[in-house]
Amino acid sequence: MKSYDLLVIGGDAAGMSAASQARRINEKMTIGVFDRGKHVSYAACGMPYYIAGEIKDHSSLIAIDRDEFIEKRNIDIHNDAEATAIDFGKKTVAIESPEGIKEYGYGKLVIATGARALRPPITGVDSGNIFLLRNLSQGMAIRDYIERTKPAQGLIIGGGFIGLEMAEAFKTLGIGATLLEKMDSVAMTMSDEIRTIILKKLLENDVNVITGVNIEKIEKSGAGHAVITDRGKFTADFIIVSTGIRTNTDFLKNTELSMTERGAIIVNEKSETNIPGVFAAGDCATVKHLVTGKDTYMPLGSTANKQGRVAGLQAAGVKSEVFPGIVGSQFVKVFDLEVGKTGLNGRDAELEGMEAVSTSTVWKSRAGYCPRAQKIFVSITADSKTSVVIGGEVAGTDGAALRMNVIATAITAGMKVSELAYLDLGYAPPFSPVWDPVNATAQKMVKR
Ligand SMILES: Cc1cc2nc3c(=O)[nH]c(=O)nc-3n(C[C@H](O)[C@H](O)[C@H](O)COP(=O)(O)OP(=O)(O)OC[C@H]3O[C@@H](n4cnc5c(N)ncnc54)[C@H](O)[C@@H]3O)c2cc1C
Repeated sequence: MKSYDLLVIGGDAAGMSAASQARRINEKMTIGVFDRGKHVSYAACGMPYYIAGEIKDHSSLIAIDRDEFIEKRNIDIHNDAEATAIDFGKKTVAIESPEGIKEYGYGKLVIATGARALRPPITGVDSGNIFLLRNLSQGMAIRDYIERTKPAQGLIIGGGFIGLEMAEAFKTLGIGATLLEKMDSVAMTMSDEIRTIILKKLLENDVNVITGVNIEKIEKSGAGHAVITDRGKFTADFIIVSTGIRTNTDFLKNTELSMTERGAIIVNEKSETNIPGVFAAGDCATVKHLVTGKDTYMPLGSTANKQGRVAGLQAAGVKSEVFPGIVGSQFVKVFDLEVGKTGLNGRDAELEGMEAVSTSTVWKSRAGYCPRAQKIFVSITADSKTSVVIGGEVAGTDGAALRMNVIATAITAGMKVSELAYLDLGYAPPFSPVWDPVNATAQKMVKR
C-alpha cells in the first residue's frame, strides 16, 4: 500500500494551500493530493466573469498549473480520485478512481473536500439545459453551452451572491435575465437598505427580478424550459440553479470525526479536528466567528485559503501558525455596484441576542468638487452597551467595497465607534473627502 506523509483530500483553495505550505516548510515529506474532479487549484470565484467572456480562457482561472505542482513542488496530484472512506484507526483512505478502489496510508491528513451546489427538490430541475455552478467543469459547461447555442433568454433560480453575479454575466453577454427568488428579497444576508440598493441596480439593468416566488415545476418548452410558479410561467433557453450548497462530507458520516448537524467538520484555530493528526479546512469545515465567539459555517474563498494554509503548516510541524477566525467579511459586485458586509448588521445582532445600534450615511467617495466623486452608502453597527464596532455594510461605486475593510479591521481590533470616528484615514481629494465615509458614519453614530 502506498503511503504519504501528508495526504490531502480535495485539491482546490483549501487543499492546495495546505499541500503547498507543507511543501514550503518541509522539502522531504511525501505529499499526495486526491481530487474527484478534473482540475485542481482553480478560482471558482472568477467563474461568473469567465462565463461572461471577460476572462477569455479557463486556464486563466487556474492559479497554479497541475504540472507545476507535480514537477516543481513534488506533490503527487491524483484527479478523478474520490475518497469514499477513511479508517482513522488504521490511518488509511479508500480512493475510488477509474482503475478501481485502492487504499492509501497517511501520516497526517487534511480534509478539504469543500461543498457542492444543491439541486432543490423541484420536478424537472435535473433535465435539459439546467446548470449548477460550483466547480470549473460546471463553469466550462455553461460557457460552452452559451457559445454553442447563443441563447436569447436565461433564468436564474436563487438570488444569493452567485445568482446576482450570473445576472450581470447574462446581461454582459446580451442575454435576457430573469431571476426567481423564494425569499422576499435578494442577498438575504444583507440589511434592508443594501437589498433595496441591489434591487434598484438589477431593475436599472433590465433584470426581471421576481421575489417571494414558489416554483411548482420545470417543464420542457421548445428547446428550453418553462418554469411554472405561483406567480406565473417564465420561459428561458437555459437555467442556472444557485440555491445553496452542502458540505462534501457524506462519506464521513458515522465516523468518529466531530461534525455539526449540517455536516461541517468542527475545527479549532489550528485547523485541527477532534482526531489527532487530522486537519480540515475550507468549505467543509467550521470557522470561529470573532464577534459571536461561536463556531460557525461561512463558506468563503478567503477563509478556505487561510484555513488551508494553517492546516498545511500545522501538518508540517509549524505549531505556532494559527488562524484565529473571521468577522464575516464579504463582497459582491452587481453591475457597477460594489457591495460589502462585515461583522453583524442590526438583524444579525438581534438574532444573536445582542443589543446593537446601527447608523448609516450616504457620503461622497472623493472630495465633493472632484468630478468623479460618487455617493457611497455606509452603515456601522455597534454594541449598545460597550460602543464597540461589531459590523458594517457598504454599497456604491468608485471603490466603495474596499471601505468595508477598514470596518473589518476595526471590529477585529475591538475598536469603539469613537475611535473609528477619528481614525487617521488618508485624505487627498482624488481618493477621499477630508472625512472618509467610514469616519463620517462613525461620527454620526457618536453624535447619536
Ligand atoms: C461562482 C462562485 C463565486 C464565488 N465567489 C466568491 C467570492 O467572490 N469570494 C469568496 O470568498 N468566495 C467565493 N466563492 C466561494 C469559494 O469559491 C469557496 O469558498 C472556495 O472555493 C472553497 O474552497 P475549498 O477548497 O474549501 O472547497 P472547493 O472549492 O469546494 O474544493 C473542494 C474540492 O474537493 C474535491 N472533492 C470533494 N469531495 C471529494 C472527495 N470525496 N474525494 C476527493 N475530492 C473531493 C472537489 O472536487 C473540489 O475540487 C465563490 C464560489 C462560486 C462557486
